[in-house]
Amino acid sequence: MKLVTFNHSGNVNVGLVRGDQVINLSAVAQNMTSLIEMYSGSFEQLRDQIEPISGGIPLENVELLAPIPGPRRNVMCLGLNYAEHAEEHYSASGRQTELPEYPIVFTKAPTSINGPYDDIPYDPTVTQELDWEVELAVIIGRKGKNIAVEEAMEYVFGYSVLNDVSARDLQRRHKQFFKGKSLDGTCPMGPWIVTADELTEPHNLRVTSRVNGIVKQDSNTAMMIFDVPSIIHHLSCGMTLLPGDIIATGTPSGVGFARQPPEFLQIGDIVECEVEGIGIIRNKVTSA
Ligand code: MG
Repeated sequence: MKLVTFNHSGNVNVGLVRGDQVINLSAVAQNMTSLIEMYSGSFEQLRDQIEPISGGIPLENVELLAPIPGPRRNVMCLGLNYAEHAEEHYSASGRQTELPEYPIVFTKAPTSINGPYDDIPYDPTVTQELDWEVELAVIIGRKGKNIAVEEAMEYVFGYSVLNDVSARDLQRRHKQFFKGKSLDGTCPMGPWIVTADELTEPHNLRVTSRVNGIVKQDSNTAMMIFDVPSIIHHLSCGMTLLPGDIIATGTPSGVGFARQPPEFLQIGDIVECEVEGIGIIRNKVTSA
């Protein structure tokens, strides 16, 4: 299932994409988080509740929002989870590459969430080094703690595309990543959640980004250092994961700051992020 949060004539609801139509699911769930909470580990029950609902609105007549526009807590993110990105990161700062022994984890504020086609606000008095990072996002479906690697996939509700837009100068200045990763609108995601029963092989998906049509990143989730079960295992050790939690699994090489010369986003730029089997998000950088 492709599940969306959409705005139609000022009403925001959760929906199912069926062909070129959106089916309004407000009869079964108030929002995406409550829909995810209906998932019990099997999609059969959820499908039985959703699929008989009829009627639809043409997709072209609705505005798609981020699938989870107001997550109840921060987006959890992996840093340096692709070896080639770790190499470019260390090389750009003149240091020897060290592959992480354990996942590097940071978060983005819930207020950074942005729609799949909405503008990314840019204020050059706040940052001059706004950068792109295409990522596969994992959406957690069930509450869990100390989740074993072998059972981790049962906790995955679905997947989405996410751009972990990053203010590099703020990342450096404030030492911890949080501030540089949390500017308003710097977490575009969508266009939908593809449920895990329809995307059964998340570790062989092409991941690409383009700026103004020029390919900047082109890799595959097969290149991740820590795969999805391993990420869920590590994050859930002693820390409860909740339905609706969003995990950004890291970005491949080709980001702006590591380029020679470095490249950063400018007002008017159009950034596209694509994950095979999910879709494309497209955002324009505009003056804040
Ligand atoms: Mg990232």
